[in-house]
Amino acid sequence: MDDSQSIVALARAWDFSASRHTDQRRKGARGEPYVNHLAEVAHLLAEATGGRDAILVIAAVLHDTVEDTETTAQEIEELFGAEVAGLVAEVTDDKSLPKTTRKRLQVETTPRKSTRARMLKLADKTSNLRAIAHSPPANWGEARLREYLDWAVAVVAGCRGVSDVLERRFDEAHAAAMATLATPCND
Ligand code: ZN
Repeated sequence: MDDSQSIVALARAWDFSASRHTDQRRKGARGEPYVNHLAEVAHLLAEATGGRDAILVIAAVLHDTVEDTETTAQEIEELFGAEVAGLVAEVTDDKSLPKTTRKRLQVETTPRKSTRARMLKLADKTSNLRAIAHSPPANWGEARLREYLDWAVAVVAGCRGVSDVLERRFDEAHAAAMATLATPCND
């Protein structure tokens, strides 16, 4: 893709993704629009690659459409091509499996995924940990938060080596999330 094609494809991806995720909110107590998460992941990856990987940024914008909305992998392939669709597929959990299995599979399969997919996972987990630091889910107790953080660290262990800057962002987000847990609560 040249620059002008990339810009058109990226704008199309935003339009598509924003409309598919219209009614979704993030888990945090603030209930931010779900697209804030997609914007953060896309931004992290655009910066980490110096704006040189449009396919990766487009895949970032679309990365939760198949898992969390009524979108099929085939639709993504028809609209955005096989490369984008392949990347989205690599970071999409099989929702027919129980949640604990899906979480275990992420830890087990991430190390074997493509470099781009591991970068996308790293940015995804960074965004989720930032959200926990800024606006933790209201109904999650400390034990559940800790379990989530430990799981994110285990998944990201399989992504190490793909991008220094993304690893740094993840480590910062993890430290910030841990710091909120460490805050004693006086009740
Ligand atoms: Zn995500």
